[in-house]
Amino acid sequence: RHDLRGVGLERRSAVAGRVPAAIGARRLRVVVTGGAGFVGSHLVDKLIGRGNEVIVVDNFFTGRKDNLVHLLGNPRFELIRHDVVEPILLEVDQIYHLACPASPVHYKYNPVKTIISNVMGTLNMLGLAKRIGARFLLTSTSEVYGDPLEHPQKETYWGNVNPIGERSCYDEGKRTAETLTMDYHRGDGVEVRIARIFNTYGPRMCLDDGRVVSNFVAQVIRKQPMTVYGDGKQTRSFQYVSDLVNGLVALMDGEHVGPFNLGNPGEFTMLELAEVVKATIDPSATIEFRPNTADDPHMRKPDISKAKELLNWEPKVPLKEGLPLMVNDFRNRILNEDEGKGM
Ligand code: NAD
Ligand code: UDP
Ligand code: UDP
Repeated sequence: RHDLRGVGLERRSAVAGRVPAAIGARRLRVVVTGGAGFVGSHLVDKLIGRGNEVIVVDNFFTGRKDNLVHLLGNPRFELIRHDVVEPILLEVDQIYHLACPASPVHYKYNPVKTIISNVMGTLNMLGLAKRIGARFLLTSTSEVYGDPLEHPQKETYWGNVNPIGERSCYDEGKRTAETLTMDYHRGDGVEVRIARIFNTYGPRMCLDDGRVVSNFVAQVIRKQPMTVYGDGKQTRSFQYVSDLVNGLVALMDGEHVGPFNLGNPGEFTMLELAEVVKATIDPSATIEFRPNTADDPHMRKPDISKAKELLNWEPKVPLKEGLPLMVNDFRNRILNEDEGKGM
């Protein structure tokens, strides 16, 4: 009885738009869908670290139990194998909805499944949030801006997205997920938050997910040339994962719906990135040019003034400091892989 009364109070204060008193205290219960993945597992570490109870819901499509193995004995942690395309009943205060294949290699592997995960998965989590009065956060993406005609991108930009291309399952899937999120907010009064995440890197990224930072780092450690797609002059802005996690939590606990760009404005061409990876890991590393993929955005850089002003958030870790932090993790995993093959 005592516990239930406490939960009711939290809900009422959340509905009133204030930060619930229980944030940071032991009894805040949080679901992280996709919590066995790269970003999700770092977010879970932060939430457990501040005393929350955390339930991870993941189907292990790209996530790994290894990312959470250190938490398996923790009484405040629970891991559920579940596909968010199916409905689920839970009782929590906050829902971080990350579940979705995120790298081009993974989301193109089964594009129909990708769009269904985005639409049905987000619908189910919003239905859950509505039923239990929980606050819901969607991890959307800078890909909603497509190949942007505005640079850097502000949240007010509506994007330049191909609806019928190879990336559409992801880009349009996330755009629909944003639409659903706003419709549940306007129509059903669900408390929602939307983050538009820009390229993020760090330990626990899948070794072979085809993203540029993981590819370059793994290639140089394996003494292979870095594969630069196209002419390598396209740009991206790379954010270290701890900065992103801090931004997600600030957004969830704050009072603003968003959308908010969460990214590091430091902009690099792929050739410049290759130089930084080379300087960080091995000065003898080489590059090799490959044809680029379809619909590749030419440039991307977040305008983060809105998050700075309203969330009091900005990234702290520049690429040159963040890269060495993922190299050890990659080295160890590549070494284990090689030993597993009897090499
Ligand atoms: P990831 O692939 O490491 O994690 C995604 C997780 O979701 C995995 O654990 C996977 O098993 C799980 N998952 C996928 N489909 C599922 C389903 N149907 N049901 C249950 N679980 C499912 O990717 P990530 O980089 O950690 O991305 C996390 C979120 O952040 C994604 O929503 C992604 O779109 C978003 N995002 C990431 C980046 C980035 O640079 N990492 C950029 C923009 C947006
Ligand atoms: N849903 C869920 N868990 C819940 C509540 C709802 O998974 O605790 C799912 C539900 O099965 C439905 C979706 O969320 O597919 C949307 O729910 P909502 O109540 O908004 O719509 P309805 O069920 O009325 O169509
Ligand atoms: N890229 C590259 N070499 C690689 C992988 C990717 O040059 O081995 C390029 C890719 O063409 C794109 C950029 O790096 O221009 C970022 O690609 P990534 O898949 O990491 O992210 P996204 O395209 O989703 O921003």
